[in-house]
Amino acid sequence: MRSRLPSLLLPAFFCCLTGIVMAGEFRVGAARVDITPRDGTPLGGYYRFRGSAGVLDPLYAKTLVMEKDGVCAAVVVLDLSGTVRPVVEAARRAVQDLCGIEGDHVLISGTHTHTGPQQPRGSLMDDITKVNTPPGVAYISALPGLIAESVKQAKARLVPATASAVIGRAEGISFNRRVLREGQAEAVWQPKKLLATDRPAGPVDPEVGVLVFGGAGADASPVASLLNFAMHPTSVGGGVRISADYPGVFTRLVSERHGPGMISVFANGCCGNINHGDYITGRRRSTLELGTALADAVDAAWPQLKPLRTFAPRVLSTQVTLERRAVSDAQAAKARDVVSRMMTENLGTVPMAEAVCIMETLDKQKVPLTAEVQVIAFSDELAVVSLPGEIFVELGLALKKASPFRHTFIAELANGSIGYIPNREAWPQGNYEVVSARCAPGSGERLVEAALRLLNEARKGG
Ligand SMILES: [Zn+2]
Repeated sequence: MRSRLPSLLLPAFFCCLTGIVMAGEFRVGAARVDITPRDGTPLGGYYRFRGSAGVLDPLYAKTLVMEKDGVCAAVVVLDLSGTVRPVVEAARRAVQDLCGIEGDHVLISGTHTHTGPQQPRGSLMDDITKVNTPPGVAYISALPGLIAESVKQAKARLVPATASAVIGRAEGISFNRRVLREGQAEAVWQPKKLLATDRPAGPVDPEVGVLVFGGAGADASPVASLLNFAMHPTSVGGGVRISADYPGVFTRLVSERHGPGMISVFANGCCGNINHGDYITGRRRSTLELGTALADAVDAAWPQLKPLRTFAPRVLSTQVTLERRAVSDAQAAKARDVVSRMMTENLGTVPMAEAVCIMETLDKQKVPLTAEVQVIAFSDELAVVSLPGEIFVELGLALKKASPFRHTFIAELANGSIGYIPNREAWPQGNYEVVSARCAPGSGERLVEAALRLLNEARKGG
């Protein structure tokens, strides 16, 4: 299936026929650079060492560059488990050197695939995943340059473009992986099947954001898309073979179906507590099924794409300093015990996650926990927000609802990550995401407030 964009999107096409870039034109370029590691590279996503061996499908750094009146903004999404601040800072410097886009106009996020290379976090996680061994160091050293190359190529491909957007829906694909059980204070984490009296601890976000940039081809076929959905990419299930997980299938299908030359970029939304484990039927959908279901949701929404009036990108960002979590003496003692045994015994994900987090908190008590929030707006109707961790879906839904923009796309794990960020209500319910959260209760709400301030400023004119 090859789609045409609505006819309202055509004016840029006529400008381009002249072959001259007109002042004031809104332009978009997109590119992808392969970031698949060599065999033997330490992988991320789980609390154990996995050296990569073989490739199911490649990993990319995918970039969209938007430009008008000489002002550029870039959105980069990596097929990686997240982003770490040193890589983001190095990549931004490299982008500035290589193609002149200011570093703070670059958003860098990760899809959160669990079958891609690990990045150093400056905690015990680095020992567990062996990220600082030569293959890991070689991969991380090369990454900023590859990101910059992707931005450079996208900028070199800028063409006059129209923008259009629609919000699709994918129901029954994603699940809130925290469940409340009768008579139990602690949430159950990732149950395989619900008991009759169980209920999900929170909602999901079924929205599939679809932003399409139409180019200057004879049929105005799309040049790029930005797709947004909130769900953990864990469907490959670990292992040592490289995969972009469902975002790889999803973006490939959207491009195949709607414009073979189109670069489709997937940004993961607030999926801290959302995964694909279907505890209603007990079924686990495959990577292919998940990507196909999301591409089908895009197909269903595509005819309702509405043109956006575009302007020069407005890029705003702020650094928010958050409080670190509190650690009691008993928690510290328990964490030390777990750490002393974790390299030789299989203690389970939750105790290991908690111990790693507590040891990091004790180590870094005097280091501020600073996190960036960024907004990129290029239309009165749509903005992209970056958030710096694995954000609970309730916070994403609240942000979208309060946003002054009709469409708000959220890219989590962006511009560095501070780990899980639960909403206030989740804290007393404990379990995996809460015990491994490095920030204090209320941090997520503060990030949402910061994002809303930036969104309101961007909506008024930046
Ligand atoms: Zn996660």
